[in-house]
Amino acid sequence: MRGVAEEASAQPAVPAEIERLGRRLAAAPGREDSLRHVRVLPRREATTTSWPDWAHTDVVDAFGRRGVAAPWRHQVVAADAAHAGQHVVISTGTASGKSLAYQLPALTSILDHRGSRGERGAATLYISPTKALAQDQLTTIAGLGLAVRVTTHDGDSSYEERDWTREHGEYVLTNPDMLHRSLLPRHGRWTDLFRSLDLVVVDECHHYRGVFGAHVAQVLRRLRRVCAFHGSDPTFMLASATVGNPAEHASQLTGLDVMAVSHDDAPRGEVALMLWEPRFTSYTGEGGAPVRRAASSECADLLADLVSEGVRTLAFVRSRRAAEQVAGTAASLLADVDASLTGRVASYRGGYLPEERREIEQALRDGRLVGLAATNALELGIDISGLDAVLVAGFPGTRAAWWQQVGRAGRNAGDALAVLVARDDPLDTYLVTHPDALLDVAVERTVFDPANPYVVGPHLCAAAQEVPLRENELDLFGGHARELLDELTATGRLRRRPHGWYWTHPEPASALTDIRSGSGRPFSLVEESTGRVVGTVDAGSAHATAHAGAVYVHRGETWVVDSLDLDDRVAMIDRAEVDYSTTARELTEISIRRELGHHTWGAARLSLGLVDVTRQVVSYLRRRQPSGEVMEEVPLDLPEQSLSTQAVWWTLSDEQLADSGLLSADLPGAAHAAEHCSIGLLPLFATCDRWDIGGVSTAHHADTGRLTVFVYDGHPGGAGISARGFTAAREWLTATRETIRSCVCPDGCPSCVQSPKCGNQNHPLDKGAAVSLLDVLLDQAPPE
Ligand SMILES: [Zn+2]
Ligand SMILES: [Zn+2]
Repeated sequence: MRGVAEEASAQPAVPAEIERLGRRLAAAPGREDSLRHVRVLPRREATTTSWPDWAHTDVVDAFGRRGVAAPWRHQVVAADAAHAGQHVVISTGTASGKSLAYQLPALTSILDHRGSRGERGAATLYISPTKALAQDQLTTIAGLGLAVRVTTHDGDSSYEERDWTREHGEYVLTNPDMLHRSLLPRHGRWTDLFRSLDLVVVDECHHYRGVFGAHVAQVLRRLRRVCAFHGSDPTFMLASATVGNPAEHASQLTGLDVMAVSHDDAPRGEVALMLWEPRFTSYTGEGGAPVRRAASSECADLLADLVSEGVRTLAFVRSRRAAEQVAGTAASLLADVDASLTGRVASYRGGYLPEERREIEQALRDGRLVGLAATNALELGIDISGLDAVLVAGFPGTRAAWWQQVGRAGRNAGDALAVLVARDDPLDTYLVTHPDALLDVAVERTVFDPANPYVVGPHLCAAAQEVPLRENELDLFGGHARELLDELTATGRLRRRPHGWYWTHPEPASALTDIRSGSGRPFSLVEESTGRVVGTVDAGSAHATAHAGAVYVHRGETWVVDSLDLDDRVAMIDRAEVDYSTTARELTEISIRRELGHHTWGAARLSLGLVDVTRQVVSYLRRRQPSGEVMEEVPLDLPEQSLSTQAVWWTLSDEQLADSGLLSADLPGAAHAAEHCSIGLLPLFATCDRWDIGGVSTAHHADTGRLTVFVYDGHPGGAGISARGFTAAREWLTATRETIRSCVCPDGCPSCVQSPKCGNQNHPLDKGAAVSLLDVLLDQAPPE
């Protein structure tokens, strides 16, 4: 943190003026027409209830000391369920006290079951996606002042600590990686803990989606088997940000029947939501296309305006560099108004020490700091309450994440302003011009495919090593388990004996897979100057994100890749503050292996199936930041990569096309434009990033004999994304057409049909013909 002013004098915004304040921002010169939509969410009163009879008085007293006089109703509904042995997921908004809901039954059970000499009678295993979150939980629980033995078990734990946890730990905080690599394979040494386990808490479970979700689902199944082996049958309690299908998601993750508690009884003030689209700039982009002002630059201006009015504001941006840029620009704009205000703005990144975080939290609370620009790293870690406004630079990828960021403003039931500033891409354009799609549609269904064979196979081996697999357990691992076991036996991975399947190799079976990676062994990112491993990058995306010359943003820090060693799977990188970003471009070919399902819309056919994709990263673009202006395209010499995955595709017959009046010369540009925009919009229907998916379009495909547009999952075996596109095809492709049609550019731009990762220099693209083509396709789609 930098430049925190010494004394406090900021005045909080008068709550009733929140909406007027937003309108005043929009009226400033140069911002005419930028405000696309305003929506005011009404105030919500809290619903509290009394503590359950079963709650341990020490635990109730401890929460009381922390200021919780009476719990909110949803907390007690969830806690009651878990206490009664019902698996439950609590899926409510930011700051709705989800941790109290699981801590209450967990701590009560630990205290109730403790032996007369203080020995462990019941235990809770708490699983979080990150070490940092587990550390925060540790601090919180220790701060309750109860005599409960709470401890973390992660990669940093010493042998002494592990021994202590094994002997005495009652509330053990860990992560899926530790379960996978250490706790489950060595469960024999942890007999006492597993035997006494009566509650498993899976916190922030919305993080477990895509391929990572599929892995964690397998790890949790293995955990259930190991518990059963030691004679325990714990209740699972999951906590999630608001997602569209909490019960289904939690059931997929655990393989259990899970009840959802999603009605939020926490209070909330009035929230004014504004959707904002920056104006076009004077320079042009690829192919002469108009380009909009960068969302981060727009946010810097808005941040300065808000801070000058004393409105406590948090701006969310993508990288630490952007956070610094936004804070720096806002500070210098403020200097023009009043030099004393410059110190009131700072940037925040992940990786601060707890004391540093507390210092920032305190500075925001007491008004020394009025504006903060932060990366999403903030989501896990800092506790900021009572902000007046939130600025979001670019749609954060999911409605769930958007609502979480909005939830940062107006805590303690104060009124708040939240502004989404659109980035120059099709999804953002669609959302700010179709506010219902952002504000009225339920948040995303979290998708993953728990039966992905590329994921399940290695976990079957790990499970067999933990406790030999029996025939009657196979249902737990999904419909293909038997087939996979036959395959694993045939290839010598597992050995079949009369009573089941065994792992007979000396090495640990858990080493067969990395649960954070979808595509085999990940690439290491190694700091050139120190030799330190900074992180890893998924094998499937290494060519595109870690090629020589790539600018790589890792946890908000900016690095430049010096070299990429494909054999050793190592990218050498170094910290660098550069004024540009890079985007890789790739060429793709696709062939169909098998169709898994289809719909016919008149003569059009929509399919889901297995495909083989050949991809090659051929070059990368350097773009000046924050403007996004293209500086140059640099060729790359990288080999082809192949990928077996799932895809959704649609085809039109020659007759349909002949009748449509579209010229055959326009078809390649029409299909290509429709493909690009549909990739940009799929994240609206399936929880994914546009970088997780790819596409191919052609006026004539060898396997279908027709005009075909493919969109495929970028992970081996698929992550459930294209399957979701298939299910939601009509809404998805209708939104695609809407986006192209409503974009005000003349011939296509990054907000509609241009794609930053196109391997064909965004050529040919025909915006008008794409709309006509989608008309033909959607003409006979069934009604909603
Ligand atoms: Zn456009
Ligand atoms: Zn393209």
